[in-house]
Amino acid sequence: MLHSLKPQHFVIPRSLRTPWQCPECKSRFVYGEGVMALAHYRVTDTGEVKQGLACFCSITCLLRWEHPTMLGLMH
Ligand SMILES: [Zn+2]
Repeated sequence: MLHSLKPQHFVIPRSLRTPWQCPECKSRFVYGEGVMALAHYRVTDTGEVKQGLACFCSITCLLRWEHPTMLGLMH
């Protein structure tokens, strides 16, 4: 549970400068300039669909990553 709505209270500033790689287009960017979203993925071994936070380089890559039927679940 969050006890503060101020980002500086729970985001470590140096984390925002961490080099990151987009899971969709594989481009490299700085974490703080990316887009964090709840994304869905399928576990290869079991076929189970799970969800977790993922950081993409752009909204475009988030939309490419998500299956269209999953986008409806995010609203
Ligand atoms: Zn990307």
